[in-house]
Amino acid sequence: MAQAKKAISKTSGKLSARNAARAAVKTYHNYIDGEWVESQSGEMFENINPADTRDIVGRFPLSTSDDVNAAVNAAHGAFDRWRNTPAPKRAEILFRLGEILIRDKEQFTADMTREMGKVLKEAGGDVQEAIDCTYYTAGEGRRLHGFTTPAEMRSKFAMCIRQPVGLCGLITPWNFPMAIPSWKLIPALICGNTVVLKPAEDTPLSTYNLVKACEEAGIPPGVVNLVTGYGESVGAAMTNHTALRLISFTGSTETGRIVASACAERNAICSLEMGGKNAIIVMDDADIDLAVEGAIWGAFGTSGQRCTASSRLVVHKKVYKQFVSKLVEEAKALRVGNGADPKTDVGPVINNDAVEKIMSYIRIGRNDDGAKLACGGKRLSRGDYANGYFIEPTVFTDAAPDMRISQEEIFGPVTTVIPANSLEDAIQIANGVRYGLSAAIYTQNVNRAFKAMNDMYTGIFYVNASTIGAEVHLPFGGTKATGNGHREAGTQVLDIFSEWKSIYVDFSGKLQRAQIDVESPQ
Ligand code: NAD
Repeated sequence: MAQAKKAISKTSGKLSARNAARAAVKTYHNYIDGEWVESQSGEMFENINPADTRDIVGRFPLSTSDDVNAAVNAAHGAFDRWRNTPAPKRAEILFRLGEILIRDKEQFTADMTREMGKVLKEAGGDVQEAIDCTYYTAGEGRRLHGFTTPAEMRSKFAMCIRQPVGLCGLITPWNFPMAIPSWKLIPALICGNTVVLKPAEDTPLSTYNLVKACEEAGIPPGVVNLVTGYGESVGAAMTNHTALRLISFTGSTETGRIVASACAERNAICSLEMGGKNAIIVMDDADIDLAVEGAIWGAFGTSGQRCTASSRLVVHKKVYKQFVSKLVEEAKALRVGNGADPKTDVGPVINNDAVEKIMSYIRIGRNDDGAKLACGGKRLSRGDYANGYFIEPTVFTDAAPDMRISQEEIFGPVTTVIPANSLEDAIQIANGVRYGLSAAIYTQNVNRAFKAMNDMYTGIFYVNASTIGAEVHLPFGGTKATGNGHREAGTQVLDIFSEWKSIYVDFSGKLQRAQIDVESPQ
């Protein structure tokens, strides 16, 4: 959870020299009912660059339940008009949004690297995912398919259509600060819902950029409302707000449970995308260089802060030594640094809480679990690293499947290599965690690939590719503690943001009673 962002009061007395410098920092607002407004509390929090904590990216409203109430009222006021706007017309506005995102991609990418830390290439990929999602989902404006089906009586017509859910609360994490909000926002809008969106406190700027683009695209006032602030206040006010019919949440499994309980209390719809502990299986017939490349990308891309990160590498004992020695060599060669520097491979982690959590898992791995620390393991804090949250890419080897570092989500540049005796053994190890988001196998053998594809109980599976790299037109989500049965992306996301309405049209001109006045077969 993001405690690193500092709350400040706009109204607090005399400014010190440090505060005077901060006064030059740009101030952002909430977006409610088509207006950019301060939080009703007047309080702000600072968005800090994790690669250099002296760099204040911006000041954002530290909102409260009063701001959530105002945003919900605005969403309520806009709902009828928006749901009655023909879906192809809603789509036209969203296609315009896509064009704006393309136009401003470079700026949005730089903003994202500055506030979140991921390297520029990956930040560009995050913005691109929002673009892809916008175009793909806008296309649904001319589909949103329902279906017709025969009725059981003569002169009766039966069909099913999608209707919007209503007012939706969207709560998002910091690791994909534009892609994940777009995955929720665009499907919600194409289905005719109005929304209140709360970005993670560590990365409000990228979501602000998305909402600003929505305004420019011509989305009417009240349809999209942005409220920034902390989870315990803004997030909780949303999950408990009786007018928000649906809460769509992405974040940790622990927070997801709190969100789900609040929704259950008031019978709200709740879709959850949560943690992962994803495994790559490497078989003895694998292309080892390719497998190492995939493992490095999956484990250390976004500094390991992806829900789909390859945090476990389950390797057949026949190729174990060879794989580990190449993996460690490659991990040691990665350049850690500011994501804005094109030479950087691995950026900082998000904040000081994350540093402490990751370092505590490194201690657990070494001391309690007794795994072998093959490389990395240290926080980097000298020279260029002095003002950021940098941790060396870390590889544990010779780990047992039940160790804490093999079981728990570390969410940092740390991966754990576990030896396996056979394909069956590897699958059992890979399935033996509480999460079920993504998994992969490297093998040249089609039978082994299909067996793993069949037996891995995850929402996503890759063959001869890493555990990361989802595309927007396929469903995304996980089993077990990763999700609660929903899928985002693809057309499947429409099932989150719309509800089915079954319609019967009787044109017989008489009372026809279902199950009673049915003709018997001749
Ligand atoms: P988090 O759970 O700390 O926060 C997520 C969001 O929930 C934030 O906006 C936060 O402010 C809000 N929140 C916090 N407490 C809340 C409360 N009591 N009520 C309502 N909202 C509250 O997660 P995070 O640290 O931002 O993100 C990292 C986690 O997200 C990891 O576990 C990662 O695996 C997961 N994640 C999952 C997916 C997926 O699709 N499965 C994608 C990305 C990230």
